[in-house]
Amino acid sequence: MPNQYKIGQGKSFAVNNLTKIYTSNKQLDFTASLLQQVFKKRMNIQLPVTHSPSADATIRLIIDPTIKGNETYKLTVTAHGLTIYGSSSIAIQDGIMTTDQLLLGDAFASSRHQIAPITISDKPRFARRILMLDPARHFLSVKDIKFYIDQMIKYKFNALQLHLTDDQGWRVEIKGYPKLTAGGPFYTQEELKDLCNYAALRNVEIIPELDVPGHTVSILSAYPELACTVNDTIPKIIGTTTDMMLCCSQQEVYSFYKVIISQVCALFPSPYIHLGGDEAAISKNWAKCERCQALMKEKGYSNPAQLMIPFFDKILSYVRDAGKKAILWCELNNIYAPADDYLFPYPKDVMLVSWRNGLTPTCIDITKRYGNTLILAPGEYAYFDYPQMKGDLPEYNNWGMPITTLKKSYEFDPGYGLPADRYNHVDGVMGTLWGEAIIDINRALYMTYPRAFALSEAGWTDMEHRNWNSFRQRLYPNLLDLIKCGVSVRAPFEIAKDN
Ligand SMILES: [Zn+2]
Repeated sequence: MPNQYKIGQGKSFAVNNLTKIYTSNKQLDFTASLLQQVFKKRMNIQLPVTHSPSADATIRLIIDPTIKGNETYKLTVTAHGLTIYGSSSIAIQDGIMTTDQLLLGDAFASSRHQIAPITISDKPRFARRILMLDPARHFLSVKDIKFYIDQMIKYKFNALQLHLTDDQGWRVEIKGYPKLTAGGPFYTQEELKDLCNYAALRNVEIIPELDVPGHTVSILSAYPELACTVNDTIPKIIGTTTDMMLCCSQQEVYSFYKVIISQVCALFPSPYIHLGGDEAAISKNWAKCERCQALMKEKGYSNPAQLMIPFFDKILSYVRDAGKKAILWCELNNIYAPADDYLFPYPKDVMLVSWRNGLTPTCIDITKRYGNTLILAPGEYAYFDYPQMKGDLPEYNNWGMPITTLKKSYEFDPGYGLPADRYNHVDGVMGTLWGEAIIDINRALYMTYPRAFALSEAGWTDMEHRNWNSFRQRLYPNLLDLIKCGVSVRAPFEIAKDN
């Protein structure tokens, strides 16, 4: 739902066989092709793109550098034409996707090649609207991820996080370390470059994630010497070993990750790299390791969790050397409420992601206090690997997780009713699809839609313009449209009777 619109007066804009799409800027050619696809799909009409402002070029995409805000756009439809103004290609693309919504929502007028007059002035509530896929648990092909991107841009998601390494697999080629990817399917660096280019044309940022120091059995199975001394004689087997970590005091860990981080940073154009930092089983690893205990003594630490300080001190220096910023999953001093501090002091230049059920309001307060920026992925609203209803993932016994219904996802207010200055460090929202029970792209899409519609609106639309009954009405044409595109969606039959 756009943040500001005004229904216009007078005649509709009539698209005909002479109508052209004008753009002054050749760099907008790909973006203009997305609008061509919209008219082909909604009106079955093929409109040419032109760079000359002729009388027939009544659909216009105009870059206006004086417009403030990277994604602020203005869309006007009058009897004389349709114009989208914005300061960037992503702003123009946002206007195109809103045009698609208008044409989809007014299908009868579209079938007659008419668009009713309207003026929309719009911009997102939050800068980053992210979805996260987990090909470490169940591999997804580059083709599948491209298809996923094609769908997410329709709802103005502008970033995709790829969870590339975990206990179950290592999915990114690292030159010089072929043993990392010897055990299963993986993306070559060439494939990832191609995927990043595909995403960039569609104004999607791909954020790579390498999870450390926990969730590392895939690297430990290839290089067991990177584990703590307590695990020296324990086999490291993908799919069997759990709760094992990189040793904080093994120098080779750092020489490995220096290379790995620099290669991954060079591969992805995003200014960010996510380095995990979650669910580290410190009591079973660092607390029982001879080397780590010696380091604790040397540093004068009383709590083994403090070893996260020197660990990330080194790891984050490689990120800074690559000219990037790090993102970490936010861990607090308790995994359930109440919690009142970080697990360890995160450096200020780290962006954190709030994720644990019920802890997001606390995370918003603590990150505000310490000056970290924050992404919100609260389990109870935005973990799309959670089932949508009881029995919805029967073969995985609901994957052992609580239920997150579509309505629950829609109830997410990333501001939690706080005054704006209490959450102005929140950069965006993220929907996660942890892959343990997500066996393929069809399951990923089924878990994503329709709940991602709700998250899209939570990330984009101010609370005063959000309304469950309005959302329910707008949901159906979008669901049917995705089905026509070959997307597996879940029919939310439970809300049909919800008046
Ligand atoms: Zn150790």
